[in-house]
Amino acid sequence: MSGTFKAILVSRDEEKKQSVDVVDLSMDDLMEGDVTVKVEATTINYKDGLAITGKSPVVRHWPMVPGIDLVGTVVSSDSGSFSKGDKVLLNGFGVGETHWGAYAGYARLSANWLIPMPKGLTPLQAMGVGTAGYTAMLCVMALEKYGIEPSKGPVVVTGANGGVGSVAIAILAKLGYHVIASTGRPGEADFLKELGASEIIDRSELSEPGRPLGKERWAAGVDGVGSHTLANVLAQTSYGGAVAACGLAQGFDLPATVMPFILRGVALFGIDSVMASKEKRIEAWKRIATDLDMDKLDAITETIGFDQIIGKAHDIIDGKIRGRVVIDMTA
Ligand code: NDP
Repeated sequence: MSGTFKAILVSRDEEKKQSVDVVDLSMDDLMEGDVTVKVEATTINYKDGLAITGKSPVVRHWPMVPGIDLVGTVVSSDSGSFSKGDKVLLNGFGVGETHWGAYAGYARLSANWLIPMPKGLTPLQAMGVGTAGYTAMLCVMALEKYGIEPSKGPVVVTGANGGVGSVAIAILAKLGYHVIASTGRPGEADFLKELGASEIIDRSELSEPGRPLGKERWAAGVDGVGSHTLANVLAQTSYGGAVAACGLAQGFDLPATVMPFILRGVALFGIDSVMASKEKRIEAWKRIATDLDMDKLDAITETIGFDQIIGKAHDIIDGKIRGRVVIDMTA
């Protein structure tokens, strides 16, 4: 391919002041990798919002093309694993943080980071899931592996209106769980119930400092919020239950005690999507294709064009996004 293509570039000056520009790049500008992909769809995750706004230091190579998720078609490959014309999916692996990412017409990547496009999903649906939804699936898989099942009791999902939360609700509901959604936007209760939540609680019930142990309210939790919220989720998990922790929307601290662990045998699982093994990714995406109702995904997904990425990145940091935002890069 000759000529140029548009990209979002995040730069820093000598005083470390950050700026964000839409620039024209050529293939020669791209970083090294053995597979070059034409980007067809991407999304905006919380981390992409952090990269573009500069609110937290997620970018570790300057300048950076952000965008941690993409679906695209291979245009050239020096790897035996992928050939020209293959549809591929990328989530994480430091792309958009240390290696130029999805917010460009093309991306040059390592074959080790790519998986074949999961069957049963369109590019826009896969990006509707994105890292947020794939992380939600990793949380559910961790709980299942521990033995959590619908008969054990309800599952609480925090940050319910966010990307991880909304997909977690839809997956858990389809699997037959009684889902308790914790949100700071109770006005979205109907939306959360449509997704499959059985009960809605106000996040203020969980976000303030609480007691070391509370009433046993749920068998398990999916937490994308951290801080006091995670501490309270643990303190109200019933005997033998488990919590999957993946996020820090309230804070990265964990002001908890050991009481839930030593008196109720509660387990806490840390969930990382960025460096998860290829096997785990492939399994999670296979499960997504079967255990996520695509009509529900469509209902929580807003599709935008490349020009709207920067504005939406600010919105996700300001907590103004409901569900998932997908970018159609072919539009
Ligand atoms: P979103 O911004 O889409 O959702 C976060 C949600 O958390 C918000 O919608 C809001 O839900 C709630 N929230 C926001 N601020 C606060 C606050 N101060 N106190 C309590 N709740 C709050 O982000 P994602 O769903 O994409 O990601 C959620 C978290 O998971 C992020 O911290 C992200 O960095 C992390 N993450 C981690 C991954 C991993 O690999 N471990 C992968 C993907 C994400 P509501 O309005 O319903 O209250």
